Amino acid sequence: MDLGIAGKQALVCGASKGLGRGCAEALAAEGVHVTLVARGADALEATAEEIRRRTGVSVIAAACDITTAQGRQQALAACPQPDILVTNAGGPPTGDFRDWTREDWIAALDANMLTPIELIKATVDGMMARRFGRIINITSSAVKAPIDILGLSNGARSGLTGFVAGIARKTVASNVTINNLLPGQFDTDRLKKTLGAAAGAAGKPLEEVVEARRRQIPAQRFGNPAEFGAVCAFLCSVHAGYMTGQNILLDGGNYPGTF
Ligand code: NAD
Repeated sequence: MDLGIAGKQALVCGASKGLGRGCAEALAAEGVHVTLVARGADALEATAEEIRRRTGVSVIAAACDITTAQGRQQALAACPQPDILVTNAGGPPTGDFRDWTREDWIAALDANMLTPIELIKATVDGMMARRFGRIINITSSAVKAPIDILGLSNGARSGLTGFVAGIARKTVASNVTINNLLPGQFDTDRLKKTLGAAAGAAGKPLEEVVEARRRQIPAQRFGNPAEFGAVCAFLCSVHAGYMTGQNILLDGGNYPGTF
């Protein structure tokens, strides 16, 4: 299927590794020019070079912290008129809510709620004026089914989800859709970290926890970033213009509900 987005410009955050990288690769494979954002310049430049070599699209690397005003300014200067925006940043730390301070909460809200909102605010009017826009927020399955040790994520991402539910109905008449992609368990550095924390909390060897988690997933495996990216690319396509304000769960069947 031709997704009809060749030549568009995408700003993809958290894109040197993991799910953000999966999205950037899938968009670039469709001929979309991508601006990649991540904090570490070396890993980012290596990813940018690989995507350039494989696809031939223009790839800009913007090394900055997207959770800061200065970082967002830098990212938007590198890609001032995105047609496609993928918001993403590192997830908050695991822990017990009794230990979290106001500063911990503000950091989680900044990264996983207010940063996507600021990026939407900076780009959505231009998309509406040009009558094409696709905004994808990478959130988490925790929005649908909370994860006990990830209370900061459960809370902050639910705030973003509520905001998006309202605004996504305002933009769609201008062919600008806003949807959230909810990863379950994908094989990335982040998953390794959260499984390590779970193993530590349970006092069990890491391999045992990884194996138990894998077996709990109906698909009997963790997801991979390429299949996450493929769904992202479809949601960014011309064919997905009638779909907005949705929360798309990608979890190998792990969520047990009918709806
Ligand atoms: P990852 O650690 O593999 O990759 C994160 C990417 O984001 C890296 O490129 C990193 O450099 C970049 N990044 C992190 N903080 C940044 C910042 N402040 N500014 C700019 N770039 C930043 O993580 P991932 O597994 O790809 O996860 C992406 C998001 O999805 C995270 O918010 C994570 O919590 C969430 N999530 C992941 C899973 C999973 O199973 N992997 C499950 C649920 C939710």
